[in-house]
Amino acid sequence: MTDGVIPLLDLRQIGRTPPVPHPLPPPRTGPWLDARGRPLRDLRISVTDRCNFRCSYCMPKDVFDKDYAFLPHRDLLSFEEIARLARVFAQLGVQKLRLTGGEPLLRRHLEALIAQLAALRTPDGLPLDLTLTTNGSLLARKAQALKDAGLKRVTVSLDALDDDIFRRMNDVDFPVAEVLHGIEVAQAVGLAPIKVNMVVKRGTNDDQIVPMARHFRGTGVVLRFIEYMDVGMSNGWRMDEVLPSAEVLARLREDADLVPLAPSSDGETATRWGYADGSGEIGLISSVTQAFCGDCNRARLSTEGRLYTCLFAGDGHDLRALLRGDAVHEARTDDEIAAALGALWTRRNDRYSELRASLPAAMDSGPARRVEMHYIGG
Ligand code: SAM
Repeated sequence: MTDGVIPLLDLRQIGRTPPVPHPLPPPRTGPWLDARGRPLRDLRISVTDRCNFRCSYCMPKDVFDKDYAFLPHRDLLSFEEIARLARVFAQLGVQKLRLTGGEPLLRRHLEALIAQLAALRTPDGLPLDLTLTTNGSLLARKAQALKDAGLKRVTVSLDALDDDIFRRMNDVDFPVAEVLHGIEVAQAVGLAPIKVNMVVKRGTNDDQIVPMARHFRGTGVVLRFIEYMDVGMSNGWRMDEVLPSAEVLARLREDADLVPLAPSSDGETATRWGYADGSGEIGLISSVTQAFCGDCNRARLSTEGRLYTCLFAGDGHDLRALLRGDAVHEARTDDEIAAALGALWTRRNDRYSELRASLPAAMDSGPARRVEMHYIGG
């Protein structure tokens, strides 16, 4: 926090406990659909709000400094609590789990959580698609243990190949070579296919688009370009720093022959393009210029157990209170938690990015407060 400034409001403290329907509805056989007909398929789980990078678009140093109050350990969901919630979510139709943060590899003994999540099954008896998003700084050291615990694949965030630009963007002087080494080790141990996410900021790293594409072409790594988003309240986001995906694509097509590819799954965030010679593919994630709320099937679980049904939400729902009980209620059973989650999801109506796109730039379509990305994960 900036010197001497006391925050008026800690966004992490906001969040209602979801009501548990009484009497409980009978168990469902099909997926829950929200108010816009969208199923719940993808759960992103933030395992820590801490990160060892200070990317200015996510955790700028002047806000997340040495005085910033990260969550105390007792407030975090334990691995057992996370696995229990994930099991209930799987019963409700979730097929994919992504561990994120903060930097998930900072959470000690993460492999123990991965092993618990890898054992979960969908109602049809299938394993869940289990993945993780990381800045790659600890990946070389941890890749084998993650794989052994049951992790399927990883997504690595990397915003530049140029070492000076990369060190400036992570703002902790971390060298690009170590992240590239992490990607190689992850590939070697079989955490594949690896995706690399590059957040593109106009005037900061847009000259890295073509070098990054050339670097990863033919390696089996899928490079995805993400539009710089107005998540949270800390990054000083400005529309003129967003490089629309259409421009990214135009630059890539000047360099290589790309053809459109079909989506690989429902609710996929990236538009896919393949190299015409078959040497790989790239993705474009255009949440600012081409909102994809229409088939959004994602929910996000914060480090301390609040559920957010939109990346741009202002507040979340306190699931930890259901797990642990609170001043008013005893801890709830799995069936009660499932019923509460079902009730929450069926009421969900979020479509922040579409609303933002439909309003003049000067008008704010979202909630007055938005939760920070490092707290609910990407
Ligand atoms: N520490 C991990 C990492 O670096 O991948 C996981 C958490 S990070 C919040 C998840 C993803 O969100 C990263 O790919 C990051 O680049 C992306 N991200 C953070 N802030 C963003 C923003 N304002 N716009 C677009 N992407 C952002």
